[in-house]
Formats: sequence, C-alpha cells, structure tokens
Amino acid sequence: MASEALDHVLRPPLPWRKESLTECGLDPASFQTITRDEFIAKVKDLGQKRSAMTTCMTCWDTARRWPTWEQDPPRRLSREVKWGGHGDDQFTRELYAITALIEAHREEFDDYLAGLETTVSLQERRRERRAR
Ligand SMILES: [Zn+2]
Repeated sequence: MASEALDHVLRPPLPWRKESLTECGLDPASFQTITRDEFIAKVKDLGQKRSAMTTCMTCWDTARRWPTWEQDPPRRLSREVKWGGHGDDQFTRELYAITALIEAHREEFDDYLAGLETTVSLQERRRERRAR
C-alpha cells in the first residue's frame, strides 16, 4: 500500500474571511485537507483510533479544542487574538474595517443589536416557560 498522506483539517475561517489555514497553521494549497465537518464525519465513521492514524495530530487536537464561529463567536475570536496565524496586520486591518463599517451604518448596527437582544430575551422567556 502506498504511504497515505495525512489529512490536515481546515480551520473554520472568521465569517468575513474567504481563505483559511489548516488547524496546524499550514497553507491548505500545499497539503491534503478536509473540512471540520468532514473531520467530524471521519471520526464518527472510522472511530478515534483509525481516524487518528491518517490525521495530523496537531490538527486533530486543535479542531477538538476550538469552536467554530457559529458555535461560539467570542471564543473563536479569542483564538484569533491569541494565535493569529495570518499575521497581525491583517487582523488589525479587519478590526479597523469593521469599526469603519459600524460607524458608517451606526443606526443599522444599533437596530440589529436591539433585534438580537429581543430575540435572545424571547428565547429565554420560552425556555423559562418550558421549564415550568
Ligand atoms: Zn495539520
């Protein structure tokens, strides 16, 4: 059997970014990669031991430690702040761009926030009602 290349897992990108590195920090163009969902499916299908034999261990550990943006935006951001990987300049520019967009659309931003707060409090009320 030919030696199988290890699968590296793609790091779930920040929602405003198109490209991403692998979980272990490599350029995906030069390595065999799978998505986070494919990784989860692979572990489910093959089991932990067998899937670990064909997966980069750094990617394995990192994919299990860090949430996606959809799961937990603050923790996904804290990963970016702590480890970056795209170079500090890009992340800093992104933060300036986000700030500028909010300033340009202040009312829309405030309305959207108010909408989110209403949604959250509705969800809480529903949860409380179900708990009773
Ligand atoms: Zn890797």
